[in-house]
Amino acid sequence: MHALNPMDLFDIRSMLTDEEAMVQDTVGKFVDDRVLPIIADCFEHHRFPMDIIPEIAELGLFGSTIDGYDCAGLNNVCYGLICQELERGDSGMRSFVSVQSSLVMYPIYTYGSDAQKDRWLPAMARGEAIGCFGLTEPQGGSDPSNMKTYAKRDGDDWILNGSKMWITNGTLADVAVVWAVTDEGVKGFLVEKDMPGFDAPEIEHKMSLRASVTSSLFFDNVRVPNASVLPGVSSLRGPLSCLTQARYGITWGPIGAAQACLRELIDYTETRELFGEPLSHKQSIQERLADMARRITAAQLLSYRLAKLKDAGTLHPTQVSLAKWNNVRMAIDIARDCRDMLGGSGISVEFSPIRHMLNLESVITYEGTETIHKLVVGKELTGVAAF
Ligand SMILES: Cc1cc2nc3c(=O)[nH]c(=O)nc-3n(C[C@H](O)[C@H](O)[C@H](O)COP(=O)(O)OP(=O)(O)OC[C@H]3O[C@@H](n4cnc5c(N)ncnc54)[C@H](O)[C@@H]3O)c2cc1C
Repeated sequence: MHALNPMDLFDIRSMLTDEEAMVQDTVGKFVDDRVLPIIADCFEHHRFPMDIIPEIAELGLFGSTIDGYDCAGLNNVCYGLICQELERGDSGMRSFVSVQSSLVMYPIYTYGSDAQKDRWLPAMARGEAIGCFGLTEPQGGSDPSNMKTYAKRDGDDWILNGSKMWITNGTLADVAVVWAVTDEGVKGFLVEKDMPGFDAPEIEHKMSLRASVTSSLFFDNVRVPNASVLPGVSSLRGPLSCLTQARYGITWGPIGAAQACLRELIDYTETRELFGEPLSHKQSIQERLADMARRITAAQLLSYRLAKLKDAGTLHPTQVSLAKWNNVRMAIDIARDCRDMLGGSGISVEFSPIRHMLNLESVITYEGTETIHKLVVGKELTGVAAF
């Protein structure tokens, strides 16, 4: 019998097309060569590695599923594998690409005017323009229908007031897709970084996603031309459709984080000797490692199936909720258990599990908390919205 790959016990790899396998290998090599050598330092010093943005762009990872506009036009298995490999490096790397691709380029591509697409999409694909997505507000991200940020018409312009909180890439962004209530429904505004009255300070003191920039956004009578309002959307369905895109990618990302932790622990328990033999010879250690492999395998199959549904155009948001809930929970539990099996060494960023564990505290909260996704599935089963 041939040996199985411990990271891929059900051989998902053999189901990939040549192009999908090439995307996985290319992004995997980038993560090995360019992310893993620096990421512990970035995390420790609360620094996003700006210098690798051009390389991410060169690989075609921004807006990778978009056709045209200098984007790669890949399928959703490829997009998922990109997320998986990036998050094997760090959730911050995957968050950066998720936001740029699914939360900024996707709404401009789907709801934007031709002029907006021409202006932003090629520049974003090349990494020359960075975007952020402002939906969450200080009074409660789980309930976006309670949005307070408000815009009113003033001639050919709009005047925007309010604030957003916990916005990935906010301080770095050249353009913010900002969702605001108007007399004509919820609209998306393309707010540019130098518009008077707009400020995007970084949020400090984070203990999670330290290699990612998270910001507040403040709008004090910001004048936005009507040409910078997304014409194709006037309800919460707009931002929620973006979240479905991003959450789809998030189902893949934590698989990478969990694989990184399991890989490190398989190696560690082979060499760590206690009570006269390697830790890996202990039954309870093997049970724990086996349980991780079981959970990773289930998550891989869920995400692969989601990719097929998404490419077929039949993906249901509830399916994404179930997979986001399952896969992030899987990864956070694995990271914590790996941290424990490393003993004291597990509290050092010299080993990856505590970094992944802390990062995943954000991933389990953003893009819909675990509770919200359970309630989405509950609503599907019972027909009752219990939010
Ligand atoms: C690092 C980071 C990056 C982020 N990036 C972005 C971004 O780029 N753009 C953006 O718009 N947002 C972003 N977010 C915000 C994120 O989406 C919100 O934090 C999330 O939606 C939760 O909102 P909240 O923090 O206001 O918590 P709340 O909504 O106040 O929730 C608090 C608690 O109440 C629970 N809860 C909520 N509703 C119910 C209910 N009906 N029944 C029972 N329990 C409930 C929640 O599960 C949670 O445990 C980011 C967050 C983080 C931490």
